Amino acid sequence: MRYISTRGGTAPAGFIDAVLMGLADDGGLLVPDAMPQLSPETLEAWRTLSYTDLAVEVLSLFTGDDLTREELQGLVRGSYATFRHPEVTPVQKIGDNLHVLELFHGPTFAFKDVALQFLGNLYAHIAAKTGSIIHILGATSGDTGASAIEGVRGKEGIHICILYPHGKVSRVQELQMTTIQGENVLNLAIRGTFDDAQRIIKEIFADAAFKREYHLRAINSINIARILAQVVYYFYAYFRVSGEADGRRVNFSVPTGNFGDIFAGYLAKQMGLPIHRLILATNENDILTRFVNTGLYRPAAFRSTHSPSMDIQVASNFERYLYYLHGEKPEMVRELMAGFGAQGEVRASGEVLAQVQADFSAYSIENEACLNTIHGHYHGRAYLLDPHTACGVAAAELGAVEGEVTVALATAHPAKFDESIRLREITQTFPESIQALFELPQRQTVVEATAEAVRQKLVPFFGGEAGGTEAQGKAITSA
Ligand SMILES: *Cc1c(COP(=O)(O)O)cnc(C)c1O
Repeated sequence: MRYISTRGGTAPAGFIDAVLMGLADDGGLLVPDAMPQLSPETLEAWRTLSYTDLAVEVLSLFTGDDLTREELQGLVRGSYATFRHPEVTPVQKIGDNLHVLELFHGPTFAFKDVALQFLGNLYAHIAAKTGSIIHILGATSGDTGASAIEGVRGKEGIHICILYPHGKVSRVQELQMTTIQGENVLNLAIRGTFDDAQRIIKEIFADAAFKREYHLRAINSINIARILAQVVYYFYAYFRVSGEADGRRVNFSVPTGNFGDIFAGYLAKQMGLPIHRLILATNENDILTRFVNTGLYRPAAFRSTHSPSMDIQVASNFERYLYYLHGEKPEMVRELMAGFGAQGEVRASGEVLAQVQADFSAYSIENEACLNTIHGHYHGRAYLLDPHTACGVAAAELGAVEGEVTVALATAHPAKFDESIRLREITQTFPESIQALFELPQRQTVVEATAEAVRQKLVPFFGGEAGGTEAQGKAITSA
């Protein structure tokens, strides 16, 4: 398996080179050069596999010769041994035709752990095997940061810097990032939004000389390894519910921000998993819902919502979908992205829009509806949803069709978003490891939302042989 750029400007790369490259060198995103196709017999044989055995089967289709089966097995087992549930990502039934796929049993209580535990171990493996210097730079709307830090902290040969919007992440998310005292961790709170953080990252990664000099690696979902690790749980959940579904068709509803998670579902479907519909759920930052329903992809004003990890206007993985939507033609993607740069929009119409609407149904869930959904399931089913999951569940309910079963992806544990949940007079008991965070000292640095300001902090941290430590931030007593 080789990886090529959606913009056609990079030589085909193997799996490990693709992981190290992150964003393609021509500014595009890396995609597999061929989609593995699974026969019904293979699917049947996979039906009863454990999560880790299934992950080895799925991922081995994409890693090619870059990892031996034993290496891949070791990485997968190590990655999911940190999960608190024996099934890794269990499925729970919360309605007659509705299930949730609980993806939050990893170390930071969000679905990002599924991919980032794997990517962290993979980076450590690459560092050990090839002697590559791994300096990770990432932006987070809240969950990625903690999860990425947890994925690599204390790992030999790896430094990590995370940017996040100051004051726009939940209390628990902030604590998860700022209480980690690892010498290889730098947290930068920027005075701006997540879109600013993401733009800064893109700008810095686009500076090829800087990227090379400081050995920058990506952990955002522009990294293909993250998407591939997330493909696994669509298979796992499908196998759990399809038996009980008794011939009824199976949909997935996915709370969406950067289009990474739902794109993994799209890949699973392209590989032959018989997913009926992919339901895309956004919050009030509804650019993707508007695109599916009208064909116009155009950022609107930023809104702060109860689901901050989906407060995103420009979805970084969207270009991967455009590539497939337009028949895998890089010249089309280049034209569309140039148009997006110049006019700030991408349009789909006619047959192309019809294809979009065949691929996805989409709903945007407003703040009140999100909280009402949490309230309804808590009192009706004694099941507490986090606000991101609630958007997916609300979309599943809006899009419910007789004779179909929907799996809504539960992307975070409710304890991470207690501020919003308390608005409906619901009191929850925090898991012990979250409660413990409130006692720990925090460390963070606040910077302006410019690439220049961030570069100034990165140079001393990533500079020198082992990276610096003096730039790691001041202690803060309250936030
Ligand atoms: C990151 C995140 C999402 C959005 O996932 P994308 O891959 O960006 O679409 C949804 N819910 C939670 C809790 C998240 O952390």
